[in-house]
Amino acid sequence: MNHSQRTTTPKDLAGWQALADQLTLENRAFINGAYREAVSGETFACISPVDGRELVSVVSCNQADADLAVVAARNAFESGAWSQLAPDRRKAVLIRFADLIEAHGDQLALLETLDMGKPIGHARGVDVPATARAVRWTAEAIDKVYGELAATPHDQIGMISREPMGVVAAIVPWNFPMIMAAWKIAPALATGNSVILKPSEKSPLTAICLAALAQEAGIPPGIFNVLPGYGHTVGKALALHMDVDCLVFTGSTNVAKQLMIYAGQSNMKRVWLEAGGKSPNIVFADAPDLKKAAASAATAIAFNQGEVCTAGSRLLVEESIRAEFIGLIREALESWQPGHPLDPATTCGAIVDQAQLARIIEYIGIGQSEGATLVAGGKRVMEDTGGLFVQPTVFDRANNGMRIAAEEIFGPVLSVISFTTAEEAITIANDSIYGLAAAVWTSNINTAHRVAKALRAGSVWINHYDGGDMTAPFGGFKQSGNGRDKSLHAFDKYTEIKATWLVIE
Ligand code: NAD
Repeated sequence: MNHSQRTTTPKDLAGWQALADQLTLENRAFINGAYREAVSGETFACISPVDGRELVSVVSCNQADADLAVVAARNAFESGAWSQLAPDRRKAVLIRFADLIEAHGDQLALLETLDMGKPIGHARGVDVPATARAVRWTAEAIDKVYGELAATPHDQIGMISREPMGVVAAIVPWNFPMIMAAWKIAPALATGNSVILKPSEKSPLTAICLAALAQEAGIPPGIFNVLPGYGHTVGKALALHMDVDCLVFTGSTNVAKQLMIYAGQSNMKRVWLEAGGKSPNIVFADAPDLKKAAASAATAIAFNQGEVCTAGSRLLVEESIRAEFIGLIREALESWQPGHPLDPATTCGAIVDQAQLARIIEYIGIGQSEGATLVAGGKRVMEDTGGLFVQPTVFDRANNGMRIAAEEIFGPVLSVISFTTAEEAITIANDSIYGLAAAVWTSNINTAHRVAKALRAGSVWINHYDGGDMTAPFGGFKQSGNGRDKSLHAFDKYTEIKATWLVIE
């Protein structure tokens, strides 16, 4: 990547394309403060879903690279150069890191779009600022959290302090590559750990780039390492590693379960998991504004091509307004039709890769064969571009017994389920292995709170969808995971609590 700062963000497709043509892509791992090839010399092809072309071949790390990175991370941790630095000094470095992310926002956004297909307007307007904010907010907090004193007898002092864990491995997915990475690396670094980031093999480019920016900000060698490669190779090597103290993960529930097994098979490293979802969006007939609720429901399934862990993929609608509401959603989805990801006007971009596209198309077929009624979308489009695009799709008359309503599709496919009472809505909503998020739309404050309390989900939104900020924790109940990203609660994952007891002589 060319790190020179630009002063003007491109305004149109041609401008972004011109910037893309100038990009120099860094493709190597970053270990102990330097970019390097994999020990094996292996690479994998990084294909853009925008047009099917190979962007670059990326270094494919393996066990040997994981070993090198862990040694570097451990040595750097033990040196104290970062782990023992005063919190306000770590804060200053991380704030510089956030500044650099913002300063390179155009290039980072472009890499994200080319690599995983999201619209450039969202990559630039959502992903870049959210990544910088995650780093900055966390950095600013770190010199404002205190230890505790226990309620001791007069002649004793019980000090309760938090210490960094040591070497943290962070394994992240491809849907928000930078944001998901930032939610892990910011609190891990802020609390003094060394970090090894393994981005998804489907979206490694921004993570590789963040390594250089972190170094430029002043993060010492060995403290922040990036290992591109596959899950079953370098991901597994990190998860099984005897000298990794903590494993943090965002990704699918199946892989999350496997990581718990790896931890048990190795050194019982701490394992924190943000996994899948099948979130219910519950709309009562007395919702304050049905048009607004429908627009929000459309966004909840189409934003980021539906490749969102909190996608509102189960729409629970009160039966009396079902037909009207589906009409409103179909209208709202008109503004979510796929377009060229480098066009700033595009709202719905490309699906990350062929396998994910095939999965979405397969589920659309499953919905039809299960007897749900296809009322919008359902087709692959823009095939002539060489890119991977699918229409936002809506199935009416779905129920929890259908696979389209029970399983996470991770694409723009909405299942509409009707209900007649609040109790029924709650039962349907909670009848899921997942518990990541949920929303409830109603004008009745009692219904709102009764339903919100009854929903088994880590985030509940009332009369909107997908609210939140760095100030609030994010994570799941049930098989959506454990632990929380964001907010001060995130520090729990990256620190051990120590009780130091003194008896005064
Ligand atoms: P995934 O589970 O396939 O992969 C996630 C990461 O795990 C990738 O880096 C991958 O290489 C790695 N991995 C795969 N197998 C591994 C193994 N055996 N050992 C170690 N690492 C391994 O998920 P994905 O397809 O990249 O992302 C989509 C999933 O992520 C969805 O289920 C989505 O709900 C979830 N997600 C959850 C959240 C959340 O905060 N809860 C946020 C975003 C995405």
